[in-house]
Amino acid sequence: GPSFAYGFNKRVHVLLGDMGTGKTSIVLRFVKDQYFDCQESTIGAAFFSQIISLNEATVKFDIWDTAGQERYHSLTPMYYRGAAAAIVVYDISSMDSFIRAQKWVLELQRQGNPYLIMALVANKVDLEAKRKVETEGGLQYAQEHGLFFIETSAKTAENINELFYEIAKRLVRIR
Ligand code: GDP
Ligand code: MG
Repeated sequence: GPSFAYGFNKRVHVLLGDMGTGKTSIVLRFVKDQYFDCQESTIGAAFFSQIISLNEATVKFDIWDTAGQERYHSLTPMYYRGAAAAIVVYDISSMDSFIRAQKWVLELQRQGNPYLIMALVANKVDLEAKRKVETEGGLQYAQEHGLFFIETSAKTAENINELFYEIAKRLVRIR
C-alpha cells in the first residue's frame, strides 16, 4: 500500500455551506472525476477518501460532505471537531449562500483551533451570466478572515484539483 510520509491519515476534512452550493459535486469531481446535472441531495453526511501526492509528502483526505445543517442554521460539531481543514462553499449566483458561508466561517473560528486551514470556495463560476457575488467581495472577505480563496466549477472541473492541492500544501507546511 501507499507509505505515508506523514501521519495525515488521521486528519479529517469537512465541507460546509448552504444546500445546493455544490459541496457534493465538488467532492465527486475531486474523488471520482464525475459530475451530475441532477446531483441527489446528500442525506445526513457522506464520507469520501482521496490521496494526493506532493513532492514532500502524501496527504490523505478523509472528507465529510455534510448536509442538513442548513435547516437548523448551525453546524453539527461531530463533523468539524478534529478537522484539519474546512472548506466553506458558496454559489456565485446566490448572495444568500455567500452570507450564509460567512456564518459558517465565524462558527468555525469560534471553535478556536488555530491550526484549522479554511478555504472559502466560490463555486459555479460557469454561471458567470447569473453572477451575484463578485470575485472581489469573496476575496476581500477571505483576506480579512485569514482564509484561502478560490473560484471553482464542479461542472467544468475548473480549479477543483487546485483547491485540494492548495489545502494539501498548507497541511504539509503546518506539520
Ligand atoms: P450540495 O447540496 O451543496 O451538496 O450541492 P450539490 O452538489 O448537490 O449541487 C446542487 C446542484 O447544483 C446540482 O444540481 C448540481 O448539478 C449543481 N452544481 C453543482 N456544482 C455546480 C457547478 O459548478 N456549476 C453549475 N452550473 N451547477 C453546479
Ligand atoms: Mg450535498
